[in-house]
Amino acid sequence: PNYNSPMQTPVSSLLVAKTSRLHTVDITASVSEAVTVMNENHVGSVLVLNEGSLAGIFTERDVLYRVVAAEKNPHSTSISAVMTRDVVTLSPNSTVEETMSLITDKRCRHLPILQKGRLIGIISSGDVTRWMVRVHRTEAEMLRTYINGSYG
Ligand code: AMP
Repeated sequence: PNYNSPMQTPVSSLLVAKTSRLHTVDITASVSEAVTVMNENHVGSVLVLNEGSLAGIFTERDVLYRVVAAEKNPHSTSISAVMTRDVVTLSPNSTVEETMSLITDKRCRHLPILQKGRLIGIISSGDVTRWMVRVHRTEAEMLRTYINGSYG
């Protein structure tokens, strides 16, 4: 990361550090199939694909509001009926700062990354938080070393 301004780091460099693959379901899936994918992979969202391209996102929040509170049967409800269609996305060169603003302003914790319309990854607020903690820890260690005069 850029030492002077870690907030300007492109979001794609956080993606490289991530080992998990993308968790997706087809638009023909039921809610219960989507929830199974989320639970088996311990993730809070799934991306919904229609003929391979991004058609929507479905998260834990949607399970609470649009399924449980709405008293919908997860087995007979199609994911397409309860997903969010208007997906907020990032480009690989979006910065960490822009990512954090979107998470706060749009109130969503999951941001898919598209490169020329093709899905290449997803960043969650948790990923950004873990990365920021690491950056700050490293910076503090460097400053402590410098103050203690161990350089040169
Ligand atoms: P989350 O905080 O990610 O669990 O999502 C909260 C709400 O925003 C849910 O209704 C999601 O479907 C929706 N949502 C999550 N991520 C996105 C996104 N990247 N674009 C649009 N809506 C989203």
